[in-house]
Amino acid sequence: MADIQLPMRQIEARVEANRCLYCFDAPCIHACPTGIDVPAFIRKISSGNEIGAAKTILEANILGASCARICPTKVLCEGACVLHDRDEKPIEIGRLQRHATDFVNDRGIHVLKPPMKKNGKRVAVVGSGPAGLGCAAELAQLGYEVTVFEKSKLPGGLNTYGIAYYKLKPQLSLDEAELVKDLGVEIRCGVEVGRDISGEELQRDFQAIFLGLGLGDGNRLGIDGENLPECLDALDFIKQIHTDVLHEIPVGHQVVVIGGGNTAIDAATQSARLGAKRVTMVYRRGESQMSAYEFEYDKAKHDGVHFLFDSMPMGVVEVAGHVAGIRLARTRMSTAGKLEMIPGSEFTQECDMILKAVGQEKQTEMVRGIFPSLAIEANGVVTRDQLTGATNIPHVFVGGDCANGGREVVNAVGEGKKAAHGIHTFLLGESAKLPKQASRIGVDASASGCGLHHPIRAHELEAQWKANRTTKISGAHRG
Ligand code: SF4
Repeated sequence: MADIQLPMRQIEARVEANRCLYCFDAPCIHACPTGIDVPAFIRKISSGNEIGAAKTILEANILGASCARICPTKVLCEGACVLHDRDEKPIEIGRLQRHATDFVNDRGIHVLKPPMKKNGKRVAVVGSGPAGLGCAAELAQLGYEVTVFEKSKLPGGLNTYGIAYYKLKPQLSLDEAELVKDLGVEIRCGVEVGRDISGEELQRDFQAIFLGLGLGDGNRLGIDGENLPECLDALDFIKQIHTDVLHEIPVGHQVVVIGGGNTAIDAATQSARLGAKRVTMVYRRGESQMSAYEFEYDKAKHDGVHFLFDSMPMGVVEVAGHVAGIRLARTRMSTAGKLEMIPGSEFTQECDMILKAVGQEKQTEMVRGIFPSLAIEANGVVTRDQLTGATNIPHVFVGGDCANGGREVVNAVGEGKKAAHGIHTFLLGESAKLPKQASRIGVDASASGCGLHHPIRAHELEAQWKANRTTKISGAHRG
């Protein structure tokens, strides 16, 4: 399966980099949850210094190569580019970032080195997904001895197992984990905290602990026939593509994907690209309410995916122990503003495979198993200080999906970094010196506590973008 977006040629990268205005206090920097100094790396590309550009990127975001491929750049950095105000095409920041990081990866150039001096303090990181690796890399660069505990066989979490193959190859995620190891971080795979090592042992052996546990299994639909072999969790299906031989993965002729988010889109486009004859996405609300980004939606349409809106699953049609279809019903908003099924609207959609993408469970049980006294919100996420990742247990910090409920990979990396700064300040107090770029990711480097600096810029942009999209789509309906 080919890359969805082609890399830039060097001449193309130079031309694009030369369009940048290298803005002072550039909005593209503040729109990046990891605070990459975008104009600085673009300027380096424009002068032919790809290695320097990659260093600028990777110092701020150790997963810069994968984020260059999977970040919603149109919503974040590129969405904030000032060239929009001049009715010009924004700078292709994502592709330039890919150009620089590919340049060093392809040549095996190591741009980051572990610090000469360690501070003698040890931190445990639980989970090697984007939040865990973001935290570990930052701590290592600040002089800590870091051990990452990962229950899976391979490091990388979502980036290794849960992103559509044509967007991000698992090998790139593994290469990024190697970059983290190059900084002196130990990654212990196949070790589950709570089973192979207890929370008490971590507290005994490490001065601070970061929890980047991500989310758990996919939510169930709660309908009859859900346990049939061809009714799968969408993330398990994507994981199979990453771990099994491609041509041996069973894909239905007629696939129905339940859900309206980016994972649903990944599962649908991936099924289409693996040879399914007809793929239909079923979403219980309307087109404008889908949580998937518009460019993801466009991609699915481009791949021939069909969409069935305002419809919800009622049960799986079973024939001889296999999926033969799905019973659906039409939905509408009740006068009380609640989504309800329209009586008598049931119909059957023929299919031989169903992929469920209706969100993931929180890791509440796992968290309680590790630290029974850790405070957890009613919705299952771990309670924390938004700026430092601190929890109600003084030396335990948290970030990523298990704390934010599930956002972008780049948000998880940014939260891992913030927590690393929180840990650094907690362990070293007044003497903690934060890196310069800390001020660009919502942590005030000048304060011993963590102040707020451009706290919701990325959120604002995202909300604004969604609002524009809703207006556009509903406008199209009216037309
Ligand atoms: Fe360059 Fe656009 Fe960022 Fe300004 S906002 S520095 S033009 S990428």
